[in-house]
Amino acid sequence: MTGPALNLQSDHMKRKTGQDRNITRNWRPATQAVRGGTARSEWGETSEAMFLTSGYAYDCAGDAAARFSGDQEGMTYSRLQNPTVEMLEQRIALMEGADACRATASGMAAMTAALLCQLEAGDHIVAGRALFGSCRWLTDTLLPKFGISATNVDARDPQAFIDAVRPETKLFFFETPANPTMDIVDLKAVCDIAKERGLTTVVDNAFATSALQRPMEFGADVVAYSATKMMDGQGRVLAGAICGSETFINDVLLPFHRNTGPTLSAFNAWVVLKGLETLDLRIRRQSENSLKVGSFLEKRVPRILHPGLASHPQHALAMQQMAACGSIFSFEVEGRTQAHALLDALELIDISNNIGDSRSLMTHPASTTHSGVAEEKRIEMGISEGMLRFNVGLEDADDLIEDLDRALEKAGL
Ligand SMILES: *Cc1c(COP(=O)(O)O)cnc(C)c1O
Repeated sequence: MTGPALNLQSDHMKRKTGQDRNITRNWRPATQAVRGGTARSEWGETSEAMFLTSGYAYDCAGDAAARFSGDQEGMTYSRLQNPTVEMLEQRIALMEGADACRATASGMAAMTAALLCQLEAGDHIVAGRALFGSCRWLTDTLLPKFGISATNVDARDPQAFIDAVRPETKLFFFETPANPTMDIVDLKAVCDIAKERGLTTVVDNAFATSALQRPMEFGADVVAYSATKMMDGQGRVLAGAICGSETFINDVLLPFHRNTGPTLSAFNAWVVLKGLETLDLRIRRQSENSLKVGSFLEKRVPRILHPGLASHPQHALAMQQMAACGSIFSFEVEGRTQAHALLDALELIDISNNIGDSRSLMTHPASTTHSGVAEEKRIEMGISEGMLRFNVGLEDADDLIEDLDRALEKAGL
């Protein structure tokens, strides 16, 4: 078979002959999650096709030359483009309400690329102090090696961003809710501060996803994801994504992405496409379960950090920015011994450091996800020795409550 059978075009929005870009763009997010970005091959398959190919063949040498010069639309090499990956990129962009998206092999590939593609020696960034462990490694260790300095601030306080800005500051980088302290950043306030100063805002939106929170509606410029988490949602593959304006993606990110190669595999892209179809359902149900389980735990443990509960100091702000509380919360017991004892007493809930999975998973950040962060930094971030982070899954909430009840008793808590 020769010639491009697919209807993919560089104006990637026209996915079927005659399909009206304005209609598809205006579909609501839950519709985009199921159908956004779909491009059918000549076979008319209903489920997206998986294109496991590294290269593409051309009908003639002239076509190859035209493809490379950009005069002819089409694909040249899967580090640069792949039909399955492109369907995922389109879907994520449409759900986010972003102009464009680029997928990556993991969430950390997305964070690293989103920062390094736009920074250079001499630049400064202001980042949240409560960040995913490896994101903290980027700001503390990697960026300084290349002459880029970072100030980590208490991102709950918008004034902290203002105070940390220097003449050489280029961007703000934070997550909300933050991992694992569940700190909430006031998206509107912080994005406004950045805009007034001509700075770029990069938001890691892994916990909420576009199903619950769309940072661009509050003025964020770039939204980056670990798609490993809620987007896959079933603990199968690693993936990441970066959303932004057409100019940012094409002119700033693409040269970096294409030449350094943090590309997502077509297989993993396909798995995430399937995951997105149920994202809206899963995240709402997991949020409900998280609220039920959180309400139970609140009466049994000394401290709980749950954005969906009124006891969270930023509960009102969280509910203003997010459509629901999400699947994750943290709580504290007395210390590391008690935290480990509780984990060891669980029967149903797994001890695991992943999140966003349909299974309930619990971890002790100080000895796992954040063990690489120096102890004094952990304390400053708000990660205590007794803190446990809980991803509430899709099981029956009553079974989870019974498991916790039994484990608390067994651990003598
Ligand atoms: C998991 C996670 C990452 C890293 O994503 P990977 O897919 O594991 O590389 C980054 N930020 C946040 C908030 C995360 O939860």
